[in-house]
Amino acid sequence: MTTVAVIGCTHAGTFATTSILRNHPDWTVDVFEKNDTVSFLSCGIALWAGNHVSSTEKMFYTSPEELEETGASMHMRTEVTDIDVKGKRLNATDLETGKSKQYRFDKLVITTGSSPAAPFIQGLREALDNGRAMLCKDFNDGKRIVERAKKIKSVVVVGAGYIGCELAEQLSTRDIKVTLVDALPHVLDNNYDKSVTDQAEAAFEEHGVTLAMNQKVVAFRPETGSDGVADSGVTVVTELGEYTADLAVMGAGFVPNTSLVAAQLRTLGYGAIIVDKYMRAATPENDVLDDVFAAGDCATVHFNPTNTDEYRPLATNAIREAMLIGENIDEPTKTYAGTQATSAVQLYDLSMSSSGMTLDLADRRHIEADSVTIQENYRPEFMLSTTPVTATIVYDRATGRILGAQFAAKHDISMAANLISVAIQAGFTVDQLASTDMLFQPNFDQPVNFVSSLAITAADKRSKDLEGIEE
Ligand SMILES: Cc1cc2nc3c(=O)[nH]c(=O)nc-3n(C[C@H](O)[C@H](O)[C@H](O)COP(=O)(O)OP(=O)(O)OC[C@H]3O[C@@H](n4cnc5c(N)ncnc54)[C@H](O)[C@@H]3O)c2cc1C
Repeated sequence: MTTVAVIGCTHAGTFATTSILRNHPDWTVDVFEKNDTVSFLSCGIALWAGNHVSSTEKMFYTSPEELEETGASMHMRTEVTDIDVKGKRLNATDLETGKSKQYRFDKLVITTGSSPAAPFIQGLREALDNGRAMLCKDFNDGKRIVERAKKIKSVVVVGAGYIGCELAEQLSTRDIKVTLVDALPHVLDNNYDKSVTDQAEAAFEEHGVTLAMNQKVVAFRPETGSDGVADSGVTVVTELGEYTADLAVMGAGFVPNTSLVAAQLRTLGYGAIIVDKYMRAATPENDVLDDVFAAGDCATVHFNPTNTDEYRPLATNAIREAMLIGENIDEPTKTYAGTQATSAVQLYDLSMSSSGMTLDLADRRHIEADSVTIQENYRPEFMLSTTPVTATIVYDRATGRILGAQFAAKHDISMAANLISVAIQAGFTVDQLASTDMLFQPNFDQPVNFVSSLAITAADKRSKDLEGIEE
């Protein structure tokens, strides 16, 4: 009888467990999770804080009991404290009783995910310990933020990526004075070029959010909060200013939880376990381990636009990687298709979606890329309503291969990023996308759909540029 140990059970752990048991119903699958819940959708925390969640119970899509029914042996509130990868043994502590026990396994699945980055900044540790600053990751973090959101009058959100922006937006709809701080020059700078970030920043400013961009946080200092209680508030000190509020929330990215295995496996510089196309890990010397798998926020993904292994912590990646583990755990059969890190966000009535690389990222990677941006109404002007879509496509200057695209509109443009994701995965050029069949019907789009129009504009620009080069 084969025994599998799955370490960690949010998205990657849940999908790995169910896929293993679907493929091998007679195997023993021991699942270790230090929390008391599984499958929490942290993507809902900001909406929960903004009072836009129908029921917190619905923020979980499965339970330990349901996983037991599929055949898993669930060890909840049990933390794995060390793993001997080669010796195929681990120690786990029951967090309720404090008792530790050794378990053996034939195959190891590491789905330990990530923790919010809490960089070494003066006063941050103390602010976190005292509740003047909070992290935003799991169900318990969500509960704490939601409880405080009922009382606070002001908040500083540190980090203007997806999570920080979503929190800033939702908290600002509750009459809370919000300041959003980031070291990068623009909000959502890692996912969008200026054509979109300008609109996101305008939306924040219209809603009274103070933007403090281009400034690193250097310290957290205790303050008297709006409740008059000494040290219940916080001042966030940056290189350029000081921002005082009742609470600070950190949204400064994630670090992989791999300290248990980092010395035994091959990892990227900052700890993500490097997996191959079958989700197998390797020794530091790069010998593939047939019995050791990893997926999700603790592991790398293969980023198709650059053909490199990278760290891109997203639930979408965690789930797609983990589903493969069940297929490959006995023998390598099904390969991973990689990712474009396709994603979306809504701030107030502005929807934004993106897939692949921004032009800025391409420049930083020294890729000879170009981009075009168009703005046009998504459906004909004779309709009783329509609204403009801003669309940017990034492509390889030499080959025309699509590297990424971004969309923004006061209309649902999420599927446009999914369409670009398919095009990138298929290796399409802008010319191929320009001649792809797309529907037209005035309720939905123009005779030339805005994605086609974007690709046609890019293909025209590229052919003119090439002619110019040849002249
Ligand atoms: C606020 C927020 C919003 C997000 N929004 C989106 C979104 O809209 N779309 C999207 O695609 N992604 C989103 N993400 C990212 C997404 O949540 C993560 O990519 C996803 O949770 C990764 O799943 P995972 O299972 O790999 O890791 P995690 O969710 O980090 O889970 C790892 C699990 O392992 C457990 N664990 C760790 N170490 C041990 C140990 N030693 N012993 C036992 N158990 C252990 C942890 O308790 C945890 O339950 C968001 C994340 C956050 C925080």
